[in-house]
Amino acid sequence: MSQSPDTTAAEPIIGIDLGTTNSLVAWCDATGPHIVESPQGRAVLPSVVRFDPTGGAPQAVGDEARRHAVEFPEHTIFSAKRLMGRGVDAVTGELAYLPYRVVEGERNTARIAVGKRIYTPQEISAYILRELKQWASARFGREVRKAVITVPAYFDDAQRQATRDAGRIAGLEVVRIVNEPTAAALAYDLDREQDATIVVYDFGGGTFDVSILKLQNGVFQVISTAGDTHLGGDDIDRSLVERIQSEIRAQFGQDIAFPPATRQAFRTFAEAAKIKLSQDDRAELEIDLGGERTYRRTITRAELESLMRPWIDKTLESCKRALRDGKLKPDAIDRVVMVGGSTRIPLVRRVVGEYFETEPYTALDPDRVVAMGAAVQAAILAGINREALLLDVIPLSLGIETLGGAVAKLIVRNTTVPAVARENFSTYVDGQTHVAINVCQGERELVADCRLIGAFELRNIPPMPAGLPKIEVTFIVDANGILTVEAVERRSEKRASIQVIPNHGLTRREVERMGLESYEHALADMTAHRLIDLRNQAKLDMRQIRKQLEKVGEAIDPDYRAEIETKMTAVQRYVDADDPEPNAFAEALTAMDHATIKLAELAIASTLREENLNNRP
Ligand code: AMP
Repeated sequence: MSQSPDTTAAEPIIGIDLGTTNSLVAWCDATGPHIVESPQGRAVLPSVVRFDPTGGAPQAVGDEARRHAVEFPEHTIFSAKRLMGRGVDAVTGELAYLPYRVVEGERNTARIAVGKRIYTPQEISAYILRELKQWASARFGREVRKAVITVPAYFDDAQRQATRDAGRIAGLEVVRIVNEPTAAALAYDLDREQDATIVVYDFGGGTFDVSILKLQNGVFQVISTAGDTHLGGDDIDRSLVERIQSEIRAQFGQDIAFPPATRQAFRTFAEAAKIKLSQDDRAELEIDLGGERTYRRTITRAELESLMRPWIDKTLESCKRALRDGKLKPDAIDRVVMVGGSTRIPLVRRVVGEYFETEPYTALDPDRVVAMGAAVQAAILAGINREALLLDVIPLSLGIETLGGAVAKLIVRNTTVPAVARENFSTYVDGQTHVAINVCQGERELVADCRLIGAFELRNIPPMPAGLPKIEVTFIVDANGILTVEAVERRSEKRASIQVIPNHGLTRREVERMGLESYEHALADMTAHRLIDLRNQAKLDMRQIRKQLEKVGEAIDPDYRAEIETKMTAVQRYVDADDPEPNAFAEALTAMDHATIKLAELAIASTLREENLNNRP
């Protein structure tokens, strides 16, 4: 897949997610949207600007400004978006959260005072936009002048106009202002669906928004919005910090003080533990309090879930309100799109999925989906033909990697969507507790020749002998071409899943090439796959035979033992050979298996004898 933009093409239009905390820029070609990185390789620009103390020229925009925000609270400006296009009276609720000075400008507008200078929020946002414009211009090797910028669905005319003005100040022609939820839906190509009702659930670090969109003839309409401008992942971190502090007081004395630097460290620890618990069942906390005092403790996912449940319930209250305003019931919702970093939390996904009775869309990075959708809107305006890879059939086979690098195909190409397939697998090693599931796409027989489109782990399977766990893998492709892969270990009910868009980044030409290559290599691929299967089988059988030989011990005729060992040596030679002849390999394997039928009977008899002995009173 090539990501280098075609500089000979018509003037590019970029898509910008101008966020309260972070901003991103993206562009879109025929293969779909791509995030533009900074020349230093960063994808996310913190929406933070630091001025010198007099309020003169900005000293830093982005990461650098955020890193030192605590040191320079009065001249580091963040969250300017909260003030955009608003009157001073309307933002009094925000002031408690902002350490810099907010003053009244003409016609009651909110302005920001830095040293001797007064800035409009638009000017602050323009510094962010100018930086993103530079990233994109560097990427394209030419000045980028046109952009689509996203805004929250609830922004009024003044806030939208302020956003346009910010673009203009940054030297950008804002060709369209797009609602953030609409952008998120566009990133998933939902505009190509038939009429649908879509919920966009956007749960970030500091804000929560839910929007209901109605898609009619390819046009999105906002039916209702609800949310909370001060609810997000930060609240979860704070709940955890409060618990840590009260436990520390209980352990080391009520009078222990927490200066700001310590509280900041607690927040960092709490956020790291929260993020770890999105993956794992437990996280270790260890905080050095000085004076030979250390706070140590394990926090489980279940405990964090009970701690954050009230915040998640609050988001559901907003969802209910949005439904009520839209005169809709939860089951009227066809699709749910997840946006914002906090939607990576498994409990959030589960609760939202259960409430709307549908598996939410999580295939795209929830931090990037709005910028990607802005780029899709830009491509539509620029007349770029997003190749219609949204087909009614699956263009390339989908499967998972099995032992030895072969592919087990679950859904073969040209299957019509929607499609479901299920297959059972097991472990290969005794006591194996983790299984890696690598999802691949393509027609070839070996993983190395296919596209790896997703990977996840099924963890915490109770230790069992190899082959005993029953791992059921299910592939579901919905009408929008979105693939959900779920793995469940049936004996323990441990489960894990991933969602991907297999066709993202693929052109029609690539699909054709991958199809043709599979014909060219058909014979060699089949042989390679067969050899992998033979080697796996041989190793499994030999392990079993060794166990049986051990079990029967001296009770076996030495000549018979020698015969078995000769057969095993022959098979081992094929296992070790670089390029064995598969038919001869298969014959040696069959010969070994035949020779050991009697051994298996002896081993069973010996087991029965042992059991009889054990059961004797
Ligand atoms: P956003 O405002 O969309 O960038 O979201 C940032 C929020 O998402 C912060 O509160 C992060 O702690 C949170 N976040 C990011 N990744 C994860 C994760 N894997 N699990 C839980 N929370 C996360």
